[in-house]
Amino acid sequence: MVKAIDDLYVYNKEGSSNLFQEAEEVIPGGVTANIKHFDPHPIFMKKGKGSRLIDVDNEEYIDYSLCYGALITGHGHPEVMKATSRQLMDSGTVIFGTPHELEITMAKKINELYPSMERIRYANSGTEANLLATRLAIAHTHKEKIAKFEGHYHGGLNNLLVSVNPSEANAGPAERPVSVYETDGIAEDERHNTIVLPFNDLDSTEKLLRKHADELAAVFIEPIQGGFIPATHEFIDGLRKLTEELNIVLIFDEVKTGFRVHLGGAQHIYDVKPDITTLGKVLGGGFPVGAIGGKKEIMDKSAANAKGDVFAVGSDSAATTDVVFHSGTYNGHPVVLAAGLETIELLEKDNLIDNLFANTMQLRRRLENLYAKYDIPMKAIGVGSIFNIVFTDEEVNNYRDLWNADMDLRKDIDMELLNLGIHVKPLNRYSMSTMHTLKDIDDTVNAHEKAITNVLGRRRR
Ligand code: PMP
Repeated sequence: MVKAIDDLYVYNKEGSSNLFQEAEEVIPGGVTANIKHFDPHPIFMKKGKGSRLIDVDNEEYIDYSLCYGALITGHGHPEVMKATSRQLMDSGTVIFGTPHELEITMAKKINELYPSMERIRYANSGTEANLLATRLAIAHTHKEKIAKFEGHYHGGLNNLLVSVNPSEANAGPAERPVSVYETDGIAEDERHNTIVLPFNDLDSTEKLLRKHADELAAVFIEPIQGGFIPATHEFIDGLRKLTEELNIVLIFDEVKTGFRVHLGGAQHIYDVKPDITTLGKVLGGGFPVGAIGGKKEIMDKSAANAKGDVFAVGSDSAATTDVVFHSGTYNGHPVVLAAGLETIELLEKDNLIDNLFANTMQLRRRLENLYAKYDIPMKAIGVGSIFNIVFTDEEVNNYRDLWNADMDLRKDIDMELLNLGIHVKPLNRYSMSTMHTLKDIDDTVNAHEKAITNVLGRRRR
């Protein structure tokens, strides 16, 4: 079925349209993660190669989603594929279900690149990593509330799925944002444990932190919001000092920024040591992963001891309560770690990451010049290998600044791009990979020019 969004734009993805209808019969909303949905329906892919994805209608796309940033070496990098199959074949099994050496090798590599992560635990997603980080902070401080910044995303946890995309009507005053819960299904009792802070506003953040210091266990932050709006150095330095003074655990969520803004993450750029860091995405080379690391004294609260096995029937519950529970059937999965380690080692070789950053900067600059040629105010804002296209001529320093951007234009351009062979989830960020070539950049800039003329043409009619 061909879908016409209006009489001038045709979104012709017949195979995807058919599969989406089939999916809706068995999967709520036809997608397995709500973020994958967009109107009229998402595109079903069947193959990936390097910078490209191929959909079920055999149309090819240059992919800038890269599984929401996870695939920094692109689709099916031969070395990552080899490392994965080597791990499977050499070990003769998919997973041991016991400790194994690769867990140590990877932990050492993480510690080398992120010295603040003195001790490391693995999980299966960024969400899971932030779950353990929360629990460790509460155990460490004996305080119960969490603070986070407006517009920052930390996964689907009850106490963190707050004020990620609040509407202007609900968000409250800029210097004292209201905690807006982003999902149904959270018990009333749980809706009072999260304080929302204004990003890049140190004075207001300080006031809120001091006011709630006695109840705050942790502050979560994406040091570069969404991977593209950087905190100022002054803001990060101030936040580090305040949290230290007030005994609040500072948690850097580097699930998105880890390895993508610098091999050592945002914390390397800011030259600051958070108490806890969480990683995900790139760390698994495309496989599901999360990692939590930080100060030894905090992390060791999760160290199992003989008394502390929650699964031992009749175990003394008093003994288990002094250990922070952390388990997971698949934690430290050898295939995941093999793919992740190969990915990191590739990035370290031959200036590959520097080249990636230079290519990303080239694409950003060329797109900005292109939109300027058409007198369309646009900023390609980002750090390292991530950026976002924001239609505004105002400065963008926090979530609220995005309210000024022209989202309708962005949506129209994104939908055009999907017909022109550029894949990005509408309104989402661009991530680049080491597989994106200069030819890809040329093709992308050309596709944007065509998208602009199509949209402007339609608007003029
Ligand atoms: N934190 C940040 C900063 C993220 O970008 C994401 C995912 N987009 C998460 C946490 C959640 O990670 P996951 O989807 O692996 O649970």
